Amino acid sequence: MGLFEDVVVNAKSAVNVVGKKAGKIVDLSKLRFSAMDLNSEISKRYESLGRTVYDAQKTGNDASDLVNECVIAIDDLYEQLDAVNEQISAMRNRTICKNCGAENPQSANFCSKCGHKLDDPEDEVPAPEADDSQTPPEEKAD
Ligand SMILES: [Zn+2]
Repeated sequence: MGLFEDVVVNAKSAVNVVGKKAGKIVDLSKLRFSAMDLNSEISKRYESLGRTVYDAQKTGNDASDLVNECVIAIDDLYEQLDAVNEQISAMRNRTICKNCGAENPQSANFCSKCGHKLDDPEDEVPAPEADDSQTPPEEKAD
């Protein structure tokens, strides 16, 4: 029954790794990366949960404890994901000055503390439109 135990141990260590990562997160791109990480981790947990149930069914073992462990691990990951998503939405409403680290309202163009120009990571500058209309129509070669 070593296989079952491995699945649970892996689930636990994965939760811990992601938890540690989430604690250190400071910027939006890292938060997004962490949310992605958590989502893929959740998918993996579902997969191992399915495998656990499948193996138990095949071998006739009672996997309810292991299933419960998987469910707890998934719940934990969802909690972390919620926390990360909350941080993401909180971050969207403010801009951190890259010069001094002060928090400014997202609408601010300049840092209220040091006057540094704030560029909004959410506000991507659209590339100037290429003017294709000037291209003359293709002439028919005789
Ligand atoms: Zn500043």
